[in-house]
Amino acid sequence: MATQLLDLHDLRTPKRGFEGRDVPENELIDACVRCGFCLTSCPTYVETRKETSSPRGRIYLMKAVSEGRLDIMSDGFVEQMYECLDCRACEAVCPSGVQYGKLVEPARTQIERQLKRPLWQRAVRTLTFKGLFGDLRLFRAMSTVFKVYQKSGVQWAVRSSGVLKPFGLDEMEGFLPKMSGRFFVPEGQSYEAVGPQRARVALFGGCIMGTAFARVNRATARVLARNGCAVVVPADQGCCGALNVHAGDLDSGRTLMKRNIEAFEALDVDAIIINAAGCGSNLKEYGHVLHDEPEWAARAAAFSAKVQDISEYLAKLGLVGELGEIKARVTYQDACHLAHAQRITQQPRDLLKAIPGVQLVEMKESSLCCGSAGVYNITQPEMSGRLMKRKAKNALATQPEIIISANPGCMIQLAAGLQSEGVEGIKVRHLVEMLDESYRRAEGANTRRRIRPDRRPSQRSKATATTSHEAAVEDKSRGEGATGNVMGMDAQAVSRR
Ligand code: SF4
Ligand code: SF4
Repeated sequence: MATQLLDLHDLRTPKRGFEGRDVPENELIDACVRCGFCLTSCPTYVETRKETSSPRGRIYLMKAVSEGRLDIMSDGFVEQMYECLDCRACEAVCPSGVQYGKLVEPARTQIERQLKRPLWQRAVRTLTFKGLFGDLRLFRAMSTVFKVYQKSGVQWAVRSSGVLKPFGLDEMEGFLPKMSGRFFVPEGQSYEAVGPQRARVALFGGCIMGTAFARVNRATARVLARNGCAVVVPADQGCCGALNVHAGDLDSGRTLMKRNIEAFEALDVDAIIINAAGCGSNLKEYGHVLHDEPEWAARAAAFSAKVQDISEYLAKLGLVGELGEIKARVTYQDACHLAHAQRITQQPRDLLKAIPGVQLVEMKESSLCCGSAGVYNITQPEMSGRLMKRKAKNALATQPEIIISANPGCMIQLAAGLQSEGVEGIKVRHLVEMLDESYRRAEGANTRRRIRPDRRPSQRSKATATTSHEAAVEDKSRGEGATGNVMGMDAQAVSRR
């Protein structure tokens, strides 16, 4: 999209502005006092040094649209709303408490309602946001196609031949994460607590977490069970809607939110646990997004109040059980929607440090966005690539054996960054995989317990779910998620060429 000079002072030409529902609120816009404290935390400003590419600049543009001084469809405005990563780093450092996410997401929604996209783009957006994210059966069917594509050798042939390059699709294909052998399908399964039951929680399975990161979901359930949590995985849950919201489709996002509220609200659980930072941040904001719908406002707020990131929850609960040694030099990459949107930075580090043998080495700019940001690496490949390289360089400077993060997008981007640097042998792992592996090691190779879900749908109330016992022992291997050794598994592979 071409950058045009923004004429903020032409008051004679009529301007299209914000209208209807989901308007960036003037009160939130006016909270910005233009102090500039946020500039050096903003990845796009750090890369470009342009005022319009800063939080302050973007809020000023929103103010200009709101006041009728700038057309909402001016190229400069549209470009800046989408060059922003929605990483929320500005929010975390703003002394005036600017809630930037609550500005940029409605601003994008306003743009999308007025933007005349080409037919093919409208079709792709509808298929993605309403079709695939709207129905996880479709999402899993598509993921199965990708799995066959990856395992049959077709992917290798496509990459070797470079057939996608002339169409500019090779970069996009390179971000396709490796699909799990067995998907994690929410079907009402439950996991019983190991030892005395300390809590009863529900697990949010997600979309990509259930197909490309199924091993992380299983590890999450096992770690929770080992920490005395009875875990239930309600069947009717779906995608959280984060990508819809970030892409300016708040309407379809709301549909997904309502389905999830219905799926979880009848459960008598102490918390709803999520292991993906972007999803967690969105789940915690259902209350805000649905605040103006009387039928849903209170239910959405109650749902959001129960949502906790796995690291936040475990740190609060306190780890129990013996952790085995993982001798490794690791570095931790803060996922933006964990560090900035949820302000969770210390808990993951404390949990990592609790694992014997782990040497945590901090990387420079750990909380500067890696450039993944939902579908940003596909829609804004140039800026995303710059941030990916910057992140890979900072991570590599710590000479890690494993890079840890807590968000699927970051993990894919980090793996791609390593690949683009030609680096092999460094693993990219989720925090809970480390904890899961540590517990496994403590149990010892010959006495490992297999924590398996009870496949019978469980809607038991807390009052009736008080029995706790050692998880079933099962020796038979059933695929990647069951026996994975975090140190030995292949990197969550995406390969960019
Ligand atoms: S730190 Fe906050 S108040 Fe200051 S310029 Fe940035 S957004 Fe505005
Ligand atoms: S959300 Fe991130 S990219 Fe966007 S203005 Fe704030 S700091 Fe910059």
